[in-house]
Order: sequence, then C-alpha cells, then structure tokens
Amino acid sequence: MIKYKLVCKDCNNIFDSWFSSSKEYEKLKKRKYLSCHICDSRKIEKALMAPNILSNSELKSKEINKIKEIKSKLREFKKFIKNNFKYVGENFAHEARSIHYDPKKKNKAIYGKASREEIEDLKQEGIKTEEFPWLEDKEN
Ligand SMILES: [Zn+2]
Repeated sequence: MIKYKLVCKDCNNIFDSWFSSSKEYEKLKKRKYLSCHICDSRKIEKALMAPNILSNSELKSKEINKIKEIKSKLREFKKFIKNNFKYVGENFAHEARSIHYDPKKKNKAIYGKASREEIEDLKQEGIKTEEFPWLEDKEN
C-alpha cells in the first residue's frame, strides 16, 4: 500500500489516499476516479512533497516490516468481514439505512461500496460507518 498526499486543483483541499501501487494511482487518475471530498472536482494531483530520504538501511527495513504488518492486519480484517458480514455491493447506503430504521434488522452486519456523499449523508442521519482500504486478493 502507498499513501499519497493529493491536492484538489479547484479548492486546494489536501487529503491522504491509499493505493495498492503507484500504477493503481495512475490508473484511477486516468479514469477520473479520483475526486475531491469537498468540492467533488476531478482535478486531483499528487501534492508535491519532500522526498523521503532514508539514510539508514535498518530504518528502511523497519518501515517495510511495518507495511507488511499493516497489510497482513488488513487481510485478516478483510477475512473477518467476509466471514461475518453480508456483502451488499453498491447497495451499501440503502442497506445501511434499512438496517438503521428497522429495529428487527439491528444485528445485521453488512459491507459494500459507498460514495463519499453517501457516507456523509449516512453520518448526518446518525448511521455510523467505517472505511478502510480494501486489498485485492491478488495483491501480496
Ligand atoms: Zn476540491
């Protein structure tokens, strides 16, 4: 996983985003899948930042181990979700609402995809959601 600082060319909002690789970032950018959380602009660029200089090779291997650790945690988490939650795909916002407003469904757990706006709407309705980067199965 790579974390990039991205900047919106329209409103100068700077935010962090995770990608499985720099290639994935390029692909998403090309297809205009990257959008600003604030103004929904698609003019997203990588924010310029100082290069990371690692003078110490031990430090570098520590960093790599940390990334591996995070990845394996994410993978465990994904497994847990898959085993315990029902996948609802693009219907996430709809399903989340139906659970929230139907007391009989209170204990149902779901996961799926939702847009930034949908997450915001849910939040305003008092429906708590969690977001996390989803590792593709082919990823190591
Ligand atoms: Zn913006």
